[in-house]
Amino acid sequence: MTVRVRIAPSPTGDPHVGTAYMALFNLIFARHFGGKFILRIEDTDRTRSRPEYEENIYKALAWTGITWDEGPDVGGPYGPYRQSERTAIYQKYCQELLDAGKAYKCFATPQELQEMREIGAKTGSKLGYDRRYRNLSAEEIAEREARGESYTIRLKVPLSGDCVFEDAIKGRISFPYADIDDQVLQKSDGFPTYHLANVVDDHLMGITHVIRGDEWISSTPKHVLLYEVFGWTPPVFMHMPLLLGRDGKKLSKRKNPTSIFYYRDSGYLPEAFVNFLTLMGYSMSDGREIYTLDEIIKEFDPKRIGVSGAVFDITKLDWINQQYVIQHIPQDKLWERLKAWSFNNDFMNRLMPLAHSRMKNFGDFMELADFLFINHLPYAEPLFEVPGVTKTKIAAIYQTIIWELDRSENWGGSGMNEASRKIAELFGVNHKKVVMPLLFACIMGKRHGLPLFDSVDLLGKDRVRVRLLQSMEFNGGLSSKKVDALKKAYENGSMAAVEHDLV
Ligand code: GLU
Repeated sequence: MTVRVRIAPSPTGDPHVGTAYMALFNLIFARHFGGKFILRIEDTDRTRSRPEYEENIYKALAWTGITWDEGPDVGGPYGPYRQSERTAIYQKYCQELLDAGKAYKCFATPQELQEMREIGAKTGSKLGYDRRYRNLSAEEIAEREARGESYTIRLKVPLSGDCVFEDAIKGRISFPYADIDDQVLQKSDGFPTYHLANVVDDHLMGITHVIRGDEWISSTPKHVLLYEVFGWTPPVFMHMPLLLGRDGKKLSKRKNPTSIFYYRDSGYLPEAFVNFLTLMGYSMSDGREIYTLDEIIKEFDPKRIGVSGAVFDITKLDWINQQYVIQHIPQDKLWERLKAWSFNNDFMNRLMPLAHSRMKNFGDFMELADFLFINHLPYAEPLFEVPGVTKTKIAAIYQTIIWELDRSENWGGSGMNEASRKIAELFGVNHKKVVMPLLFACIMGKRHGLPLFDSVDLLGKDRVRVRLLQSMEFNGGLSSKKVDALKKAYENGSMAAVEHDLV
């Protein structure tokens, strides 16, 4: 048997460190066992998938040095490798299940589903859907279809018994079927859900081992059941420990730097970043912490994969990175590497127009531009003092700016300009006197300097997001209760309901 493994990222956001982490373990597994590593793009979520996010997955993985044998960009014998190009395949398999009576058409309206969820929540049921369309007669189905009612296709999940499977890392896992909803396989627009597309593709692409993050383990019983109803042999499942934030919770962009580009832009070396990520899920037999990708591929033993989550500790990454700088970049090559990072003509040519009229002498240049080249801004209390605005309100302003930038999907200078004006209006504060000083403080660590919005363009989305988060934290952060209330107020376009919480 030739080992075939894959990663299957969804292009719905910035390239996540979790994607590089999973890619690495799949790559290591494939290379160790002489198999193939496949990249498949799971873009079945039509509203959230974007071609530029897909492009960024390739770009980010290329920076890490990870390569794959088959994928949308490199082709291969099992293509297409982009799920949006495979809709007809999923429809055919879904029809097979319908014909065999293993799936059914469900005509529940969004309102009905909402009611079912509310009742389920009240009665403490684990199910969100009460299976009410599971046993319709053929006549009724035909009538509803003739009336043009839209439907989804759902899997008939057994009403009793347990789904038991063996996870190669975590051991035997068992889920009661009674707790699993009849899964939607095909949405009303004819597109497959993640579950159907994922299983059909893993089968058709000959995937032998599914190595993915722990967060997918609750999907696995549904997948195991799908393999069973199709009569296919399931792959070996291996669920990897999650990357955790310092709070012990799953690493999330709401609190941590999660974009791979953040680490590239902050000046980490890809080899060190890769070393660090593998260390999060694996320990070498001799306890070594610094090793090359080839070394871990050679000695790799799936039994040494960690079982519990690993804290994504930037201090550790910093230490590893320093070791790489010392050991792998000779002194006479260091300047070349720094130039390649940020001190290059491209970057400097973008910076010069901003600095041109703002220097009394060249000695002023670094003072003006330091925030573009440093990771730890000198945040201090007085920097964030704005008369009449509480720290909680300041934190709330940063938080809502993040939401507004996410909503507009424009994290450049023009997006920041618009977002900051909108948020000033929403909070009823002066844009120039309140929001702009807070943005200068956050982005540059000073009260004034280079033009702010152009600087946002130069700094790039990922570092801007992290600085907004850090400024929010520096001002005391927001409890999850406050975040929830603030989110509601932001979505309703009025701060009135949370005003008293922010003083
Ligand atoms: N599309 C899923 C993701 O975004 C794939 C999960 C899996 O590997 O099955 O990670």
